[in-house]
Amino acid sequence: MKTQFIVHPDEISKERIDELKACKINCLGIHPVGGKNAYKTLEDLVALLKTESFRSLLDYAKDSAVVIEYELHSMGYLMPKTLYNLHPEYFRVDKDGVRNPDYNFCISNGEAMEIVCENAVTLAQNLYNSSDNYYFWVDDGHDVFCHCDKCKSISPSDQALIITNAVQRALRKFNPNAKCAYLAYMCTITPPTIQKEKGVFLEYAPFEKYTAKGENAPTLIEQEQAMLTPLLEYFGKENAKVLEYWYDNSLYSSWKKPPKKFTLNEKQMQNDIDFYKQKGFSYVSTFGCYLGKDYENLYGKPDLTPFTNATKE
Ligand SMILES: [Zn+2]
Repeated sequence: MKTQFIVHPDEISKERIDELKACKINCLGIHPVGGKNAYKTLEDLVALLKTESFRSLLDYAKDSAVVIEYELHSMGYLMPKTLYNLHPEYFRVDKDGVRNPDYNFCISNGEAMEIVCENAVTLAQNLYNSSDNYYFWVDDGHDVFCHCDKCKSISPSDQALIITNAVQRALRKFNPNAKCAYLAYMCTITPPTIQKEKGVFLEYAPFEKYTAKGENAPTLIEQEQAMLTPLLEYFGKENAKVLEYWYDNSLYSSWKKPPKKFTLNEKQMQNDIDFYKQKGFSYVSTFGCYLGKDYENLYGKPDLTPFTNATKE
């Protein structure tokens, strides 16, 4: 199985890359902090990617045969909020009927879509040492899609795929091997109903599994079956990837620093991975944020070998 460990940009070090190599983890995922300000953290990453020091780290990863991929909530970056004053029509209408530059954009506006696609190509060119897999996700939130008269009957999953399809077509022109992820996460966890573009693949992030609460919460396996079966029927197994939270100490620290001491639920991870293998996934990834240098100074090095052992064939 192909494996990936995802961290925030400031958590990348030579030591971390050495560890990934030693643990035979194939890919280092770079993830700027999500949430409402994801467009700013992505701006910061793009600036960082122009520095010699960060590039030399990414070259070190490449020389160590550790692949680089960028996992990005990117719409707020691809549709610059500075355009709002001149072109409010580019932006989404929120649930209250107000044009709002908070998240995503109006997918029925052709000019807006063109801008997003042009900026996606520029962003892809700036993603130093990136693999051919691109993760230009929609913005991070519960209600991020457009409710204008033209968009309101289009489901969140279809809105997300319309964007992903357009970005995929644009990226293919600059990189014929480009493949774009459809992120199945929160309100896009149900499959789309429109046709997907060639090269678009499933990235399944079962966040709900970690937030379902109460007596009536379904058992994990029931919930996973219910979410995954229709997604795999729609996308197929080819290039399908799981994005998990087994090592996500930002989640366990409630996204607040300082990081809490992390304890891996090894049994749960093994059960999950066995289940994903049985479902036909060939690429398994986990967030590993809040385990950087500040964590090590407090609690020592996190152990990544259980992840390697659990994904062995
Ligand atoms: Zn719209």
